[in-house]
Amino acid sequence: PAPGAPDIEIARAAKMDPILPLAEKRLSVPPEALAPYGHFKAKVSLDYINSVKDRKDGKLVLVTAITPTPAGEGKTTTSVGVTDGFNQIGVNAMVCLREPSLGPCFGMKGGAAGGGRAQVIPMEDINLHFNGDFHAITSAHSLLAAMIDNHIYWGNEQDIDPRRVAFRRVVDMNDRALRNIVIGLGGPANGVPRENGFDITVASEIMAILCLANDIADLQDRLSKIIIGRRRDKTPVTAGDIGADGAMAVLLKDALQPNLVQTIEHNPAFIHGGPFANIAHGCNSVMATKTALKLADVVVTEAGFGADLGAEKFLDIKCRQSGLWPDAVVLVATVRALKMQGGVAKGDLGDANPGAVEKGSVNLKRHITNLKKYGLNPVVAINHFIHDTDEEVAVIKKLGEELGVKVVLSKHWAEGGKGAVDLATAVKEELDKDKAEGKFIYSDDAPLAKKIETVAKEIYGAGGISLSKAAENSLKEFEKLGFGHVPVCIAKTQYSFSTDPTNLGAPSGHTLEVREARLSAGAGFVVAVCGDIMTMPGLPKKPAALEIGLGPDGQIVGLA
Ligand code: ADP
Ligand code: MG
Repeated sequence: PAPGAPDIEIARAAKMDPILPLAEKRLSVPPEALAPYGHFKAKVSLDYINSVKDRKDGKLVLVTAITPTPAGEGKTTTSVGVTDGFNQIGVNAMVCLREPSLGPCFGMKGGAAGGGRAQVIPMEDINLHFNGDFHAITSAHSLLAAMIDNHIYWGNEQDIDPRRVAFRRVVDMNDRALRNIVIGLGGPANGVPRENGFDITVASEIMAILCLANDIADLQDRLSKIIIGRRRDKTPVTAGDIGADGAMAVLLKDALQPNLVQTIEHNPAFIHGGPFANIAHGCNSVMATKTALKLADVVVTEAGFGADLGAEKFLDIKCRQSGLWPDAVVLVATVRALKMQGGVAKGDLGDANPGAVEKGSVNLKRHITNLKKYGLNPVVAINHFIHDTDEEVAVIKKLGEELGVKVVLSKHWAEGGKGAVDLATAVKEELDKDKAEGKFIYSDDAPLAKKIETVAKEIYGAGGISLSKAAENSLKEFEKLGFGHVPVCIAKTQYSFSTDPTNLGAPSGHTLEVREARLSAGAGFVVAVCGDIMTMPGLPKKPAALEIGLGPDGQIVGLA
């Protein structure tokens, strides 16, 4: 394909290696440890994962980014690019990414398998139905939903209050008409009428659980703890109370196995799990990351949104629960996005404007100083776009010098791994240093409200928080129920450090307003809902689905 060809053309032109020999040659994983799904995808068996658990770990590289804008930052593209770059310089590296959801694929965002010459393949399969994982999660979720209504129907032994069932239904599609529905209509034979609604599958607590579970036993234990609603005396009822956890674990046992695929340059990749990055933590599975660390010398992984949300949750939720900690961090920035942070409109991004880059760099600077609070010194990767000028790049390099961080221009989108050799080399230098002492931003035993306040002040630059009465009461109740020690998962707009998506740059002194608090007891965190958070997106007026179809040769066209 020509330079700048559509992602799907580049992906399709790449010749894939059969996955079983690739796994054996690159990761020393024998064929019997893998369940192949066709020729180019495989799941790694849980027995095999168990058999390597005492091996020494490789090094972990977290890829995060500045605050997202419509200009695009390219975290996934950079994660894949730097992995290929590592392999170019002789480091045995693999990448761990999230699985894309069907909703955005057919809606607005397009797929999530990287871009340009830094992609994971088979791109179509990864974006659609990937090894059935999301279907399994939807099914396990649906089973619990059905068992709740069935429990109420057959006498309601647990005395569940139908008005206080908190567990909604899910489907992996953007479908706004399902946000609020009434079920059980049609008379006594058809159940007990109550309000209900659908979320998208990636917002299911079961998705978060699958991604945080350490093994199958931990998975089932977490499933049993899901709070599905309240009894008439207001005490919580769990999935375990109605006996759903065993059957749910059965539906999820294959989905818990990480999926092995490859980059365009034939380097191994795990793509596994895809929780929402607002009401959940937004990282691929602990199973995949931990397994990768047993198989490769360097493991690159991505966290969703900007570093204020993605990296914060990676560190404060995923790392806290799993014992993982990154050995290096790549902070992705683009000239275009910094110009937008500096106030340039999307239509004017093509014009060189070093002044706007400088103005917008306050955003990058805030993310760098935030990461330092965790004891992490990021390497800034400028994901190069073809119209970037040397003057604009120089502005970012100068900021890096001032803050004592490396800034590396990386051309993996246009050139693949070769274009990321400088970035990989710079990250390798960080990995070769002694691991710095990592620190969490709050301690487990801090009160929940204090945890929210710490993230707001330290990471968002807020002056303080304000809790609605309802949120305050909920936090106190969760502490009484024995969930005071869990981390908090803040659901807020990803477009600003504040709760106002139009407030770009590095705002400070704002108030973080917490409207509501929810307990995800199985996932093991408390969600602080700040502002309107969409758990069931809608399709845009002209969804991507309009462009997607089958060509005369039977191949998929239009999948971005
Ligand atoms: P993120 O993971 O941050 O959401 P992605 O890596 O998925 O971002 O990239 C989003 C889109 O931007 C993809 O379609 C990708 O092809 C495109 N993109 C990424 N980097 C570049 C680049 N350097 N030049 C042009 N397009 C790019
Ligand atoms: Mg991404």
